[in-house]
Amino acid sequence: MAKAKTWIEPHPHGIYVKPADVWIDPSRPVERAAVTHGHADHARSGHGSVFATPETLAIMALRYGVDAEASHNAAFPYGEGFERGGVRFSFHPAGHVLGSAQILMEYAGERIVVTGDYKRRADPTCARFEVVPCDIFVTEATFGLPVFRHPPTGDEIAKLIGAVRAEPDRSVLVGAYALGKAQRVIAELRDAGWDAPIYIHGALEKMCHLYAVHGIDLGELRLVSETEKPEMAGQIVLAPPSALNDRWSRRLPDPVTAMASGWMRVRQRARQRMVELPLVISDHADWDELTATIAEVNPKETWITHGSEDGLLRWCELHQRKARALHLVGRDLEEEA
Ligand SMILES: [Zn+2]
Ligand SMILES: [Zn+2]
Repeated sequence: MAKAKTWIEPHPHGIYVKPADVWIDPSRPVERAAVTHGHADHARSGHGSVFATPETLAIMALRYGVDAEASHNAAFPYGEGFERGGVRFSFHPAGHVLGSAQILMEYAGERIVVTGDYKRRADPTCARFEVVPCDIFVTEATFGLPVFRHPPTGDEIAKLIGAVRAEPDRSVLVGAYALGKAQRVIAELRDAGWDAPIYIHGALEKMCHLYAVHGIDLGELRLVSETEKPEMAGQIVLAPPSALNDRWSRRLPDPVTAMASGWMRVRQRARQRMVELPLVISDHADWDELTATIAEVNPKETWITHGSEDGLLRWCELHQRKARALHLVGRDLEEEA
């Protein structure tokens, strides 16, 4: 496997694919970037050319003003890709957020997959993770410790609906990241039969609209800013986590504070944010999903990035799997888990 190290180079600010002169998820501006998904710690502005799925490109256009139509950028649906410098790149579903992709690279008879962020369980807002056989599997490790086991999503959604019904004079305010988590919580609520309007903070409006344009039905959404306070009693309100303990929340009727994140597994984190109703809903693989995925992909070598690299590294060693930790910088784990 030493050969791979001659054509793919992990750097602190991204993974460099040498023969193609392409970076994957670089944290600083480069000439050519292949981007796994739209979260800020993977997608940055200022690159010469961006290669991504159509959805990720649309998200980057919305967030950073990337010109999705410009000829120097290119969009590839799942299963498709491009060739450069003898390296074949293709994009495959990662199940993380709308448009999220694993990037497969094939060169000189070797196959390397970079997952970006991923999860294995079903998510009504994005295509499900696909197992892509490869020689080297570059996996994230956000929740790479055995303590992180996410409960069934349906249980957490039932808890949320139960909390709203229990106190019809109050609203339940759910903190959820603007890209991915907010839309997923809304879509999961719809699947669970919650068909009342859902009230949103203005900061979520554009991304929810982008999801709707891409065929993800979120039902009726209303802006909190355009709603009278009493109307939101007994209703669900979504806002970015930063708004939870903000003056903004005073416009809601006596809100119960909730937050949807994999980190809500850790009581201390819920307390820090003064969250009364922690909802363990994550867009990242938990410990069991990470280890099961490595076993299923069964690569010759596993490279581990951002998160608890050491926990997953130890698991690989214990299971006689060749592995190494990559230390990438600029991955903000708080942002989107
Ligand atoms: Zn992400
Ligand atoms: Zn990430």
